[in-house]
Amino acid sequence: DNAITTRDLTKVYAGKRGRKVALDGVSLDIPRGSFFALLGPNGAGKSTFINILAGLVTKTSGQASIWGRDIDADGRAAKAAIGIVPQELNLDPFFTPRELLEVQAGMYGVPKAQRRTDEILEAVGLADKATAYARTLSGGMRRRLLVAKALVHTPPVLVLDEPTAGVDIELRQSLWAYVRKLNAQGVTVVLTTHYLEEAEELCDRIAIINHGKLVACDTKQALLARL
Ligand code: ADP
Ligand code: ADP
Repeated sequence: DNAITTRDLTKVYAGKRGRKVALDGVSLDIPRGSFFALLGPNGAGKSTFINILAGLVTKTSGQASIWGRDIDADGRAAKAAIGIVPQELNLDPFFTPRELLEVQAGMYGVPKAQRRTDEILEAVGLADKATAYARTLSGGMRRRLLVAKALVHTPPVLVLDEPTAGVDIELRQSLWAYVRKLNAQGVTVVLTTHYLEEAEELCDRIAIINHGKLVACDTKQALLARL
C-alpha cells in the first residue's frame, strides 16, 4: 500500500508572462513507512507537488491520493492523513506556540482530551517557549514549531518542504534526528530538497524531478549505483 499515489499529475500556471508547466504528468508511488526524498533543482516543481497534496494549489489534471483517499473525491480524509511543514517560516507574530497548536488542533477537530500540545512542544525542544510570542523565536525555533503544528492531528504522513533551507548545521542535525525518530515510529516522511547529500543521508527512496517531469524513482541504493 502507498502513502501517496499520483497519476499524470499536471499543473500549468497561467501567469502574466504566459503559461508555465510546473508539473508535467508525474506518476509517483510513495510506499507507506518509507523515508522519501523528492530531489530536484530550484524550479523543478517540488513545492507545486507538495502544495497540490496540501490543497493549497489546484491541479490542472491527473489524480492524487493520500493514504488511499482521493484528494478530490475524499478531500477531507486525504487532508487528515497528511501534515505539511511549509518552506516559509510565516507565523502570526503574536501567537504563542501553545496557542498555535491549540488552534491547529481545533481546526482538525482533535478533542481537548486527546490533545498532546505540551508533549509535542517537548518533543521538538520548545517546551520552554510554550508561552513566548512567535515573533521572539529564532528561525530554527520557528521551523520546529511548524513541525509541531504539522503533527497535532497525528497524521500518518509528514511532508517537509525544503526543511533545512537556510537552517544552520546544528539545527539541521537535530531536526534530522527528530524526523528519523518519527519515521522509526512508523510515520511516512517525505521531504523535498535540492541537496543530494540530504536525500542520501536520510532517505531510503529517492525521486528525481526536473522541469516538472519525473526523471527517476528508485531505492537509494539502486539510484546511487546509476549515478
Ligand atoms: P521548486 O519547489 O522545485 O523550486 P516550484 O514548484 O516552486 O519548484 O516551481 C515550479 C515552476 O513553476 C517554476 O518555474 C516556478 O517559477 C513556477 N511557479 C511556481 N509558482 C507559480 C505561480 N504561482 N505562478 C506562476 N508560476 C509559478
Ligand atoms: P538558534 O537561533 O540559536 O539557531 P535554534 O532554534 O536553531 O536556535 O536551535 C536551538 C537549539 O535547539 C540548538 O542547540 C538545536 O540543536 C536544538 N534543536 C533544534 N531542533 C531540535 C529538535 N527538533 N529537537 C530538539 N532540539 C532541537
